[in-house]
Amino acid sequence: MAFESLSDRLTKAFKNITGKGKLTEKNMNDMLREVRMSLLEADVNYGVVKDFIARIKEKALGEEVLGSLNPGQMVVKIVHDEIVDLLGSEDAPINYKANGITTIMMVGLQGTGKTTASAKIANVMQKKQTRKPLLVACDVVRPAAIEQLKTLGKSIGVEVFSLGIETKALDTAKAAMEYAREHGYDTVLLDTAGRLHIDDALMQELADIKSFVQPDDILLTVDAMTGQDIVNVASSFHEQLQVSGLVVTKLDGDSRGGGVLSVRSITGVPVKFVGLGEKIEDLDVFHPSRMADRILG
Ligand code: GDP
Repeated sequence: MAFESLSDRLTKAFKNITGKGKLTEKNMNDMLREVRMSLLEADVNYGVVKDFIARIKEKALGEEVLGSLNPGQMVVKIVHDEIVDLLGSEDAPINYKANGITTIMMVGLQGTGKTTASAKIANVMQKKQTRKPLLVACDVVRPAAIEQLKTLGKSIGVEVFSLGIETKALDTAKAAMEYAREHGYDTVLLDTAGRLHIDDALMQELADIKSFVQPDDILLTVDAMTGQDIVNVASSFHEQLQVSGLVVTKLDGDSRGGGVLSVRSITGVPVKFVGLGEKIEDLDVFHPSRMADRILG
């Protein structure tokens, strides 16, 4: 089913409201119902929608309907601006260390695009930021994951450090840090193990690696195509690891991506990158205004 944009919804519902003047409480409630429906359809979390609607109501009531905007357009603008506000600023760069090796842990559930994102980010660092990154294969459970990272590393000319599946992830991380120091790398990206679901063993492994490497950034990959469950997954990772940035993957898909708004507002973690396809170049920084347009359809 094709989604109806918020703008279309409001235009349809309020084609009779014309002219200037303040919105009445009744007009406003009807409009807010459309806003609520639209956000829920975009998969924004219910609790997030509720808080959001309360804030919008406060802002919109009493606003004069002036100029070229009709009441529907005015509400769309207020809603859009509020979403942009919640999504945070565009400028959420990597926390590079002034001196010494910057270490980044990539975490996330299996299949969310963690390994792909690790390579995409390493590629940008090397080509555009003239850094010297080392990719580290810490997903020692799945041999295929190591091979995948090696293949990606080769394609972008970034070295991949791996001790194979016989060595524990923590020991691989320790050896990689030593290797990076000895070989003049200034950035280490650890591609950690994913699972299909969160489990204690995984979280413990990640916590141990975190405690040893003291990462400058912990980037969580979240798949924009995931529906409501994205909030639970992201909250669990954040509670246990204090994530510092999100990488929202698969934004080239047709989901409206309301989950991104939920995760951002529930965890407060900024989006640092977005994935826009399977190819290495399909990575961008985050544009909150574009995301807001997409959520509103
Ligand atoms: P991991 O298990 O989290 O490491 O996930 P992978 O990096 O192996 O990615 C899982 C699948 O998603 C692969 O087929 C990737 O090509 C694909 N993928 C990753 N990022 C994106 C993206 O931004 N867009 C699309 N369409 N596919 C992606």
